[in-house]
This record gives sequence, structure tokens and C-alpha cells, in this order.
Amino acid sequence: MACLFCHIVEGSIPAKKVFEDDQMLAFEDIHPQAPMHVLIIPKTHVATVNDLTGDHDALVGTMLRRAAAIARERGYDAAGYRTVINTNAQAGQTVFHLHMHVLGGRPLAWPPG
Ligand code: 5GP
Ligand code: ZN
Repeated sequence: MACLFCHIVEGSIPAKKVFEDDQMLAFEDIHPQAPMHVLIIPKTHVATVNDLTGDHDALVGTMLRRAAAIARERGYDAAGYRTVINTNAQAGQTVFHLHMHVLGGRPLAWPPG
């Protein structure tokens, strides 16, 4: 039984796709926390940042550059935006398939809650 985001990769659960290539998928978060709230995921199942290996180095770098491209496309690159990866319970991770949040379009407080 595949996880929720694996189902989105497979297409059995719909999502508003923003970008897709052979290794990653970007889609709109179902409960957006800002005017831009996109999730970028690897197509292969990796549960958390703790599970990354050296084999994923290029993939994670490409995901981060994709976040910058999406922010730039939407005009948030100069104003600012935030990339976040929550890991495990205390950080609030609820879906255990690695995902990078890309948030922008409003002032974002720091430190986070
Ligand atoms: P986490 O809390 O694990 O860092 O983030 C999980 C994110 O996935 C949340 O922002 C949540 O709104 C989003 N999410 C959960 N289920 C779905 C879904 O079925 N579709 C989409 N597009 N986003 C989802
Ligand atoms: Zn998965």
C-alpha cells in the first residue's frame, strides 16, 4: 500500500500539478498557508530527511533549484519566500514522504511556531 504522496505520483489521487519531470513532482498544497504554497516531492519514496543518502544529493539540490524557479515564475523571488522540510513529530511532519514546502506572497514570521 503506497503512501499518500506516492499515490499522487502514480496519479491515483489528483493534485494540481505545478511541475513534473522524471525525478520530481511539484503541486499545490491542499491547505495553502500562504498565497504560494507548493510542495515539491521526489517521485521515489523517501520518508524523511533522516532517510536521505548520498545517492539523493543531486535530487535534493535540483528540488531546491526548482523551488527557486517556481518562486521566480510567480514573482516572489525578490520579495522573498520560504523553503521548509519538516522532519518527524516535533517539527509537525504529517506525511511521511519527503516534501519541500515553498511558501510566499505574505510576510512570514521568524522564529516559526
Ligand atoms: P507536513 O506537515 O508533513 O510538513 O506537510 C504535509 C502537507 O501536505 C500539509 O501542508 C498538507 O496540507 C498537505 N497535504 C496533505 N494531504 C494532501 C493531499 O491529499 N493533497 C495535497 N495537495 N496536499 C496535501
Ligand atoms: Zn511515498
